[in-house]
Amino acid sequence: MYIKKSVRVMQGYVPGEQSRERGIVKLNTNENPYPASPLVTKALRSIAVKELRLYPEPTALKLRRRIAEVHGCSVDNVFVGNGSDEILALCTRAFVEDSGSIGFFNPSYSLYPVLAASRNVPTRPVELSGDFGWHMPARYNTSLFFLTHPNAPTGMLYGKSVVRCFCKSIKGVVVLDEAYVDFSKEHCLALALQLKNVIVVRTLSKAHSLAGLRMGYAVGPRELIAALFTLKDSYNTDTIAQHLALAALCDLGHMRGNVRRIRNTRTRLTRLLTERGAFVYPSETNFLWVRPPHLSAKAFYERLRTSKILVRYFEGDRTSDFVRITIGTDAQVDRLISAIDDIGVDGGSASRTRMKSQ
Ligand code: PMP
Repeated sequence: MYIKKSVRVMQGYVPGEQSRERGIVKLNTNENPYPASPLVTKALRSIAVKELRLYPEPTALKLRRRIAEVHGCSVDNVFVGNGSDEILALCTRAFVEDSGSIGFFNPSYSLYPVLAASRNVPTRPVELSGDFGWHMPARYNTSLFFLTHPNAPTGMLYGKSVVRCFCKSIKGVVVLDEAYVDFSKEHCLALALQLKNVIVVRTLSKAHSLAGLRMGYAVGPRELIAALFTLKDSYNTDTIAQHLALAALCDLGHMRGNVRRIRNTRTRLTRLLTERGAFVYPSETNFLWVRPPHLSAKAFYERLRTSKILVRYFEGDRTSDFVRITIGTDAQVDRLISAIDDIGVDGGSASRTRMKSQ
């Protein structure tokens, strides 16, 4: 009765399990297995509680200056948010009329349809091809398109020139969600400084190992960035988060070292899974999109859960044959592989028995 009809019928976002269980190998929410830069620890120690008496700097100017320096743009091209999720939500409020629509790939980040539902506007999903390649329908348009680059949960990267052509063809705004781009061989940040309708959104949650801090940022044309400022909460990022994010962005070498390790483990895990009969899509992220051998993806996920290994399984037409596995440390990968080898024996014989009895 008290609640809006559109809210009563909508499904909220379902986050991955955040288990704190001891001995668990957590490979389900694409967190970084390595710690953030030591400069972040130092910055945390240097904050006095009395500093929290005052409100944070509302525009996070120091942090935005550093981001502008990193990307070679003006501070007016930069917005920061309470995680990149907040920025995605602000984009749906800033760039979509009530009569508009929101587009994204299917499959991609499962938050996008939730954001569309919260604005009560229709979605215009673009079905990816059978092998999750980009396949654009003719005469497509929408008010706002979330282009996940590289895509999640598939981990696949689309070429820069295709992305550029697409952005030029769309009448509305394109948000390039580059949450995982630090693990990729190329990025599209330049498009946000060249085209009037493109915003790139990044996060410190993945490559910078700061998912718990809640810090993301957007780079884009001044007018679009100014619209996000108009709408934002007065103090959308807190003093501690601004301070620690600045420290992290002053030590890009540390982040790149962790990324190198994760990419090496990604190559190793891809090989180990493929040798065991799994199908693994080429990943440019910190996770793999895997069709498991012998068992259904759901049974595989459940068997790993019993062995205290968490991976992500998504119900749905396009996703239920796969699991998404975050790249952990090499030791975590060893545990995953030995659990898979245990399942392999049972799973294999179980499926052989099933086949005989058919
Ligand atoms: N975009 C994509 C594609 C993601 O997978 C995630 C993480 N779930 C985010 C954005 C949000 O990241 P955060 O809010 O932690 O910055």
